[in-house]
Amino acid sequence: MNQLNVAKFGGTSVADYDAMQRCADIIVNNPDTRVVVVSASAGVTNYLVQLAQGNLTAEQQDKIIQAICDIEYAVIGRLKQPADVLTALDNLIHEMSAIARNEQLSESLKLKDALLSFGERMSSLLFAELLRQRGVQAVNFDIRQVLKTDSTFSQAQPDIQATRRQAQTLMKPELSRSVFVTQGFIGSDSENATTTLGRGGSDYTAALLAEALDAETLHIWTDVTGIFTTDPRVASSARPIPEISFDEAAEMATFGAKILHPATLIPAIRSGSKVFVGSSRAANDGGTWISRETQERPAYRAIALRRDQVLLTLKSPNMLHATGFLADVFGILAKYKISVDLITTSEISVALTIDEPQNGTRKTLSSELLAELGEICDVKVEQGLSLIAVIGNRLQSVNGVGGKILSAMDSYNLRMICHGASPNNLCFLVYAEDAERIVENLHQKLFE
Ligand code: ADP
Ligand code: ASP
Ligand code: MG
Repeated sequence: MNQLNVAKFGGTSVADYDAMQRCADIIVNNPDTRVVVVSASAGVTNYLVQLAQGNLTAEQQDKIIQAICDIEYAVIGRLKQPADVLTALDNLIHEMSAIARNEQLSESLKLKDALLSFGERMSSLLFAELLRQRGVQAVNFDIRQVLKTDSTFSQAQPDIQATRRQAQTLMKPELSRSVFVTQGFIGSDSENATTTLGRGGSDYTAALLAEALDAETLHIWTDVTGIFTTDPRVASSARPIPEISFDEAAEMATFGAKILHPATLIPAIRSGSKVFVGSSRAANDGGTWISRETQERPAYRAIALRRDQVLLTLKSPNMLHATGFLADVFGILAKYKISVDLITTSEISVALTIDEPQNGTRKTLSSELLAELGEICDVKVEQGLSLIAVIGNRLQSVNGVGGKILSAMDSYNLRMICHGASPNNLCFLVYAEDAERIVENLHQKLFE
């Protein structure tokens, strides 16, 4: 091993046996890859989130568990002589089903995280066996021994020092002997209870491990050939970006480009590991390199779209010439661990956006929070909105930015606009039903 590489394979990359074989090709072709982080096979975490709601009939539960079994046993059906792996998989399914049927599940974020961990635990078990059958000396390693977090179930924050210590002790000395196949997305708290890092968190796991193990490179294998100028599913004319800076890519991830979990680049920025994003379906078709310095810093880099936004408008007659209102509002939001994305203010009101993802187990906007805000102001909640961010460089000093961007949406309603706080983005909030059309128009104006 010359240069340690950590590779991460997302859900579609390990969706089934054939997809896993393509990942195995990638690993076999790069002997520097000694750590392999896998997501749950495509669809499995969504099924687990459905189970985690906890209010299903036994029949509904059985149907979902069966759907998960169909995915996992289809892989094992194609492996050779997998007797011990089959037993291990049976045990995991058994354990998973017991948690799914636990009556406390609907109330307990801790149990929900335990349940959500099974997708990655099953895919890593199967993928390690598949690699061994390809002649790779691979072990399936339980990442919960290494990736230590706080106890914010469903949105756990990693403990960087503890993770480094564990990775250096339990993984590093063995890497020359074995390829470590391990789970993305999951960790454990100080009492060893299973935690998760939030949906899409496997990218973050891989970046944290790359940092903790001092890896030179991190390869993120997904279903597209790199980071595009916008989501290619939204605008078919989107084109791949061969090279992008950490800042630009981090900005894209923060503003909803699903290609990377929003926190992925934080460890990479700290450690300086170079990050590559490519497609496991087309490993030779190139991809995007993300690094500190890039040759180009174009004014317009990309457009990101984040769905499921909630706009809170808080109106206080006392805000007129009053001080402390915003501090009170943000005090309450901090207490509920709510992070605010966009914000605009007028003399007597403040409007702010909050992410309310529909695919997780934690609800951001609780009735307790709204009641507490209601004690100091009038609260208006608007849903069905999407946030669009134009990402670029020096946007404050590029001539005609406002006109160019606004002309792409002259036949749509614009609910809110934010420009000026950062030279790297210009963001606005639109009605969800218009969002994709606006992204397409904008892409045409800025990139075609
Ligand atoms: P994985 O399961 O491998 O983590 P994800 O589905 O989480 O994959 O992320 C890949 C998807 O991200 C792509 O299929 C694409 O639709 C979406 N995406 C959003 N924005 C972008 C972008 N700017 N460039 C490329 N893909 C993007
Ligand atoms: N399996 C998890 C999810 O679907 C984590 C990931 O895929 O990154 O959110
Ligand atoms: Mg992902």
